[in-house]
Amino acid sequence: MKILKFGGTSIATPERLTAVLNLINEAENDGQIAVVVSAFGGVTDQLIRMIEQAGGGEDGYSLEFSAFVNRHELMIQSLTTGPRQEILRQSIKRYTSRLSEILRGVYLVRHVAPKTYNQILSYGERLSARIITACLQERGGEAEFIDARHFVRTDDNYAAGVVDFELTTSNIQEYFQQHKCTQIITGFIAANTQHETTTLGRSGSDYTAAIFGRAVAATEIEIWTDVDGILTANPREVQEAHSIPLMTYEDAMEMSHFGAKVIFPPTIQPAMQAGIPIRIKNTFNPDFPGTLIGKEGQDMKSRITGITSMDSISLIRIQGSGMIGKTGLTGRIFMAMANSDVGVMLISLASSEHSICFAVDPHSAETAKAALEKEFQLEIQVHGIAKILIEENLCIVAVVGENMRHTPGISGKVFNALGDLGVNVVAIAQGSSERNISIVISRDDEVRVKRELHKRFFNDIQD
Ligand code: ADP
Ligand code: ASP
Ligand code: MG
Repeated sequence: MKILKFGGTSIATPERLTAVLNLINEAENDGQIAVVVSAFGGVTDQLIRMIEQAGGGEDGYSLEFSAFVNRHELMIQSLTTGPRQEILRQSIKRYTSRLSEILRGVYLVRHVAPKTYNQILSYGERLSARIITACLQERGGEAEFIDARHFVRTDDNYAAGVVDFELTTSNIQEYFQQHKCTQIITGFIAANTQHETTTLGRSGSDYTAAIFGRAVAATEIEIWTDVDGILTANPREVQEAHSIPLMTYEDAMEMSHFGAKVIFPPTIQPAMQAGIPIRIKNTFNPDFPGTLIGKEGQDMKSRITGITSMDSISLIRIQGSGMIGKTGLTGRIFMAMANSDVGVMLISLASSEHSICFAVDPHSAETAKAALEKEFQLEIQVHGIAKILIEENLCIVAVVGENMRHTPGISGKVFNALGDLGVNVVAIAQGSSERNISIVISRDDEVRVKRELHKRFFNDIQD
């Protein structure tokens, strides 16, 4: 069986959805498939806006809600007819009425708990999957709707549930033994053991595809999006970026962790464990082969696979003469981060041990600083640690590639380019696997640095 996942942009309008329905029908002719869908393009953002407005006591949320209802009604009207249309409309109305009640509750109490927040977000995928199932039935196909919350079990982390693979896999396997026609699965959403709605994190529908793919031992997981696969850089920023035909799981993981939004990072792990290839395809250019992610990569002449970036980070710097030669400091720093739930994206430690700096999401910067001040209260008092600083408006640009290993001159080329551009490097890190060189620079320099690096690594290949 093959898993096909369609992202929001691929199903944003009735015309786009029609193209996707054709692709689904074509794939059905080649064998058994299951389909994972995102919310219609922009719908999750729309739900977030409604929550924020309702939670802030703004009446405007009801205007946004009407636009939301109309978007779904347009899909129903454009793509279904007759009694099926009416049944679908009634069923969608039950969902939207319930959503309206929940939003009203948020508006009245001026507060939204994480549990309610993610319950509201789940409506995007629940509605799109319902509508798409009906559209396929309208075309005479045998399609069934699956609410992934009945299958994918997570812990109580409502916004980024950690999946219990054992339970999830057995739920899915049991179901698929009985159901052989095309299943239309809600991406992104899951439930905890109390059957409360959780989500897998923004962009999480890719992960849903891998979770189902692994459980059914799929032959391939196809991620259908709006670009020609994984490109050497984000095509929105670097015009000359080109598609990479073959890529290893490791490089794909590295690219996505460092900002290539085209695939959600956790997606790679389950596919890699089960040895299932992932193919990234373009719904706007379906004949193009796209990128195949698997065990084999390809020998890139450029020696690097791609250039990515995380466009907004803060750097926490902890420094002081009292840190020199002290054992256990790094352990204490990162334990303090873990205990305060702060994720660390990059670490740079000078060999003089005089200062350590690490990158965090800007939203977590104050929490990180407060946690360090508490942990090192004593050292700060006796001046062993002089300062804990936050540096803002930074980004991380990463040069990624399996073939960088044992290839001299890559970092030289990177730093020459930065020097020629007159860009100040705030921090540097290289993964011990040598698959990644990351540099922290000002956000203002992000795009021009990426363009210049792309030019030097991909356009000026002399070997
Ligand atoms: P979907 O709605 O299909 O899930 P996403 O917006 O999540 O699509 O991901 C596709 C987008 O990822 C592209 O439109 C592109 O702007 C962005 N992107 C960032 N880096 C890369 C890259 N290296 N290769 C391809 N796309 C990238
Ligand atoms: N709809 C969700 C989001 O926008 C999940 C996804 O599209 O993958 O984040
Ligand atoms: Mg996506």
